Amino acid sequence: MECDVAVLGGGPGGYPAAIRAAQLGARVALIEADRVGGTCITVGCIPTKAWVQTAHALKDANGKPVNQLDPGDYTITITDNSDDHNFHLTGPGVDKATNLDNTVPGQPEKTTWDVTLVNGVYKYKCDAHPSQMKGSFRAGPAPPPPPKLTAKVGPGKAITLKKGGAAVKSLVAGTYKVAVKDATKKDNFHLVAPGVNKKTGIRGKASVTWTVKFKVGKGSYRSDASKKLKRAFKVIPPPATPVS
Ligand SMILES: Cc1cc2nc3c(=O)[nH]c(=O)nc-3n(C[C@H](O)[C@H](O)[C@H](O)COP(=O)(O)OP(=O)(O)OC[C@H]3O[C@@H](n4cnc5c(N)ncnc54)[C@H](O)[C@@H]3O)c2cc1C
Repeated sequence: MECDVAVLGGGPGGYPAAIRAAQLGARVALIEADRVGGTCITVGCIPTKAWVQTAHALKDANGKPVNQLDPGDYTITITDNSDDHNFHLTGPGVDKATNLDNTVPGQPEKTTWDVTLVNGVYKYKCDAHPSQMKGSFRAGPAPPPPPKLTAKVGPGKAITLKKGGAAVKSLVAGTYKVAVKDATKKDNFHLVAPGVNKKTGIRGKASVTWTVKFKVGKGSYRSDASKKLKRAFKVIPPPATPVS
């Protein structure tokens, strides 16, 4: 067989070189002893990333991933297949972890936990690889969406922050979605409160929605270009839950 270019090895080094040479008109032979794709595609980069995604998971008795559970008592069986990883579950009332090192090195290890789950979010991770090997699920219903506020500055010299059509004088501390309409190129909308400092630009118009978490204290909304456009409000603590 005659060729212009012979490439030895069909890994990420070899196969792009062979393809490019062929695109340039050469007659190319790619010689591969095993599987085209090389270390990266057959055993390295791609399989390891897929493995990491699926290896650290919480599944129910039918093998389906757990995203939501009713609060209650559960038994969790953890199969720890590796000396390099562990399973660490945290959430309301739960903080449990398997060891990073298995008792017998290289041997899979099974652990059973009895846990009581209450309403809230539970997170699990490998303590050695917390950014790659992690997940979460919720026990109980999802919380209601945050209440909505509407904020407006302009047209003209006008600024408002409203909840359900009424000007905001006081708010219960918590998370809110604020739909802001900045309808003027002469002023901006600047919201300041403990834990919150958000603003639109003075010279442009904008429609944005912010998710903000107000803490108890004094708040204000203003235009940074007009001293007169400034209003204050209070953030008050949530009412105490009655003890039954
Ligand atoms: C577990 C693991 C995870 C990795 N993860 C990443 C990552 O996330 N990101 C990243 O950038 N890199 C990663 N790498 C590195 C990446 O896989 C390599 O850098 C890349 O595969 C090197 O390409 P290559 O073509 O030089 O060699 P190889 O991919 O090794 O390809 C060489 C090919 O040549 C063949 N060959 C060898 N000798 C002969 C012969 N005499 N005749 C015929 N064929 C022959 C082999 O069978 C093989 O198919 C990882 C590697 C491993 C092992």
